[in-house]
Amino acid sequence: MKVDGSCHCGKIRFEAEVDPRKVVICHCTDCQTLSGTVFRTVVPAIEGTFRILSGAPKVYVKTGESGNKREQTFCPDCGTPIYSATVGANPQVFGLRVGALRQRDQLMPSDQFWFRSSQPWLQGLPSMAKRQTQPVFDAKGGFDDP
Ligand SMILES: [Zn+2]
Ligand SMILES: [Zn+2]
Repeated sequence: MKVDGSCHCGKIRFEAEVDPRKVVICHCTDCQTLSGTVFRTVVPAIEGTFRILSGAPKVYVKTGESGNKREQTFCPDCGTPIYSATVGANPQVFGLRVGALRQRDQLMPSDQFWFRSSQPWLQGLPSMAKRQTQPVFDAKGGFDDP
């Protein structure tokens, strides 16, 4: 399946081909911090198909618990995470950040990694209050109960 994506400010644009059955959620604590939320959704680009069409992401190399190094890339202007990649491997494997892909509504995860560090409250999402937009905030950042 052909996918394309961009960062929030539009400076970085890219395309790739992915297997939609390979979408995974990662609950590891690094993904929690690096995504600024509580899990990350990733799909690997099929070998040789990932291409940056415009812009150049900034690269941060993180060392994982296993000692493996991975490039984490993001837009230097708006901070949108773009992909992670192996360092020095050939071919490089690119893990695309599903939230930056235009076709994200068609990329449903089928597996969860590092579930032991997942936030337990995620189990309660189906029964949590749901608003189609967001409430009006008052001057102190408060809002009405659902
Ligand atoms: Zn950007
Ligand atoms: Zn992770």
